[in-house]
Amino acid sequence: CDPFRVTVIGSGNWGTTIAKVVSENTAIHSHVFEKEVQMWVFEEKIDGQNLTEIINTKHENVKYLPGIELPENLRANPDLLDAVKEADILVFNIPHQFLSRIVKQLEGHVKKGARAISCLKGFEVGVKGVQLLSSYITDELGIACGALSGANLAPEVAKEHWSETTVAYQLPKDFRGEGKDVDHKILKVLFHRPYFHVNVIDDVAGISIAGALKNVVALGCGFVEGLGWGNNAGAAIQRVGLGEIIKFGQMFFPESRVETYYQESAGVADLITTCSGGRNVRVAKYMAETGKGAIESEKDLLNGQSAQGVITCKEVHEWLDKCELTQEFPLFEAVYQIVYNNVPMENLPDMIEELDDFG
Ligand code: NAD
Ligand code: 13P
Repeated sequence: CDPFRVTVIGSGNWGTTIAKVVSENTAIHSHVFEKEVQMWVFEEKIDGQNLTEIINTKHENVKYLPGIELPENLRANPDLLDAVKEADILVFNIPHQFLSRIVKQLEGHVKKGARAISCLKGFEVGVKGVQLLSSYITDELGIACGALSGANLAPEVAKEHWSETTVAYQLPKDFRGEGKDVDHKILKVLFHRPYFHVNVIDDVAGISIAGALKNVVALGCGFVEGLGWGNNAGAAIQRVGLGEIIKFGQMFFPESRVETYYQESAGVADLITTCSGGRNVRVAKYMAETGKGAIESEKDLLNGQSAQGVITCKEVHEWLDKCELTQEFPLFEAVYQIVYNNVPMENLPDMIEELDDFG
C-alpha cells in the first residue's frame, strides 16, 4: 500500500510544534509515510521576507516558535490547496476562529477518502447547535476526523520536554470501505515520540470537550491569580471548572465518557497545565493586573497568538443562553460576563457559589 502523505494545516505555536513531531516520525517510518510533510502557512512578512521562505531556508518558525530547529523534511507552503491536494492525512492545527473560512476554501479540493485529525480547541456554534470541531470538519468536507488533545503547552513539547497526549479516532459507520483507512496503530506511529507519549482511544467527544472548556476555566484561574488571591482560589476555580466540563459533556454529548475527563491527558491533566502556565491564564492575569480588555491583553502579550478561551466562553454562553441553561454553569457564565460585560472579577466567588440548605 502507498505511504500516507501528511499535511499540517496551520503553523502557529502548536501547529509548528505538531508539524515538527509529525515530520520527525515520517522521516523514520518511510514504509508507512511519505517523508516530506507539507505545512500550510498563513503567509506574512517578517522584516520584508516571507515567513514560508524563512521556514524553508532557516528551518525555524521565527515568529511563532522561535529558537526551535525544525526538520528539513518539513516544507512550509503558503498555498492551501496545493498543500492539501495529495494529502491522505490532514492535521488541522489553527486557532479555531479561522476554521470555517479555511474549510470553505478546502471544499471540493481534498482527496476523496482522506482522513483528518483536529488539534484545535473550541466549538462551532451555529444552526446545528454546538458542534465538535471534528464533526464540523467531517460534515463540511465529508472526511472522517478524530482529535488530538492533551496536557501540551507547545513551548515545552517543542523543547522535547516529556509530556503525554491523547489521540481519539473512530471511523463513522458510513465511511467503512472508503479510502485507505488510518487506524489507532498508524496514528500512534504518526504522533508518538520519546518525549511525546500518545494514548489512542475512541472518545473523540470527551477529549474535544475537555480541551475546549479548560480554556474557559483557565481564564477564571488567571483572574484570581491576577487579583493576588493565591493557590487556594485557583484550586477552587479548577474544582468547579472540572465539574462544569463533565456536566456539559454529559448534557450535550452523552457519547463522551466520564473516565476520559479523569484518566486521560486530555482531561484533568490538560486543565491543570493550562491553569498553571498557559496563554489563557496569562491573558486573564494581565487583564486583572492592568484593567485592560481581553483583546488588548492578547495583543500586548501574545505576538499574534490566540487565547482560545476568550472566544470559547462566548460560544458557550450563546449556546447555553439559547438552551436557557446559563444558571447551570455559573463559572462558564461568570467568565463570559467578566470578559464581555465588564462584571467585576472580584464578584467571581459569589457568582459561582453553590447555595446549600442554609441559603
Ligand atoms: P497560535 O495561537 O500560535 O496562532 C497563530 C497562528 O494563527 C499563526 O499561524 C497565524 O498565521 C495564524 N493566523 C493568524 N491570522 C490568521 C487567519 N486570518 N487565517 C488563518 N490563520 C491565521 O496558534 P496555535 O498555538 O498553533 O493554536 C492552534 C490550536 O491549537 C488552537 O485551537 C489552540 O487552542 C490549540 N493548542 C495550542 C497549544 C499551545 O500551547 N499553543 C497547545 C495545545 C493546543
Ligand atoms: P493555552 O492556549 O492556554 O496556552 O493552552 C495550551 C494548551 O491547550 C495546553 O494543552
